[in-house]
Amino acid sequence: MSSQQIYINGKFYSKEEAVVSVFDHGLLYGDGVFEGLRVYEGKVFRMEQHLKRLYDSAKAILLDIPMPIEAMAEAVEESVEKNGLANCYIRLVITRGAGTLGLGPERTSNPQVIIIVDKISLYPEEFYQNGLEIVTASTIRNHPGALSPRIKSLNYLNNIMAKCEASKAGCLEALMLNHKGEVSECTADNIFIVKNGQLMTPPTDAGILEGVTREAVLEIAVKAGIPTAEKTLTRHDVYVADECFMTGTAAEVIAVVRIDSRPIGDGRPGPITVKLQELFHKLARS
Ligand code: PMP
Repeated sequence: MSSQQIYINGKFYSKEEAVVSVFDHGLLYGDGVFEGLRVYEGKVFRMEQHLKRLYDSAKAILLDIPMPIEAMAEAVEESVEKNGLANCYIRLVITRGAGTLGLGPERTSNPQVIIIVDKISLYPEEFYQNGLEIVTASTIRNHPGALSPRIKSLNYLNNIMAKCEASKAGCLEALMLNHKGEVSECTADNIFIVKNGQLMTPPTDAGILEGVTREAVLEIAVKAGIPTAEKTLTRHDVYVADECFMTGTAAEVIAVVRIDSRPIGDGRPGPITVKLQELFHKLARS
């Protein structure tokens, strides 16, 4: 039996006993929201921002999280403590709860608050050293008029389709464009490029999830004196970039060295990428 302790609605269960109903609308319709957080040496990185995004996502889909944000923060801390992992990943899931088979959210009555503390699954170390190759997916990011990409909902199917395209092309990640053909982000990470010393990343209205790591990287870049801009980018901008990298809670900062069979810069992680990798590493572990 695993020693993992999973929080569901105020109680802890073993991995084997932690179950939700097959009538849960999170399962039936992807009706819910989630978050991914990370713990460094016992401390949750930017918990406030993650929980704010969670509660904002829930608000946007008219889902009342049945506890205040302060109580959620306590539940997260308690989950980390119970699992005894100093460095770990936390998955927070809120589903609409079990109801009838109909779509109607009013048919559900018991939102499920689930907190899973787990080991972090990272890209293999060689990719942190050498960078990785990505392809542009034909599957676009959610159209904001259908479901705002700012909502971290349980509806990740289009990102999963893009991820499938990546793996079929022998890559670990895919670049996703928005409905206007502009660069949005990767399937679970934000994207940055460097051109002529300037750091650029697509703005919120390019159809991105506003990543907590993205914000942290923009902050540390400014502090390091690197010019930054949130700017609409095309695929061409990525093709001719000097450097490119992705950011995310699990991945942190990881270089992208090839896209759609074209090397980025000289095909090696660039100096600004490496610097930001180091600075982020320091910030997260400080
Ligand atoms: N974009 C998407 C679609 C994501 O799922 C994630 C991971 N949460 C990110 C970007 C990166 O966000 P963060 O830095 O907050 O992990």
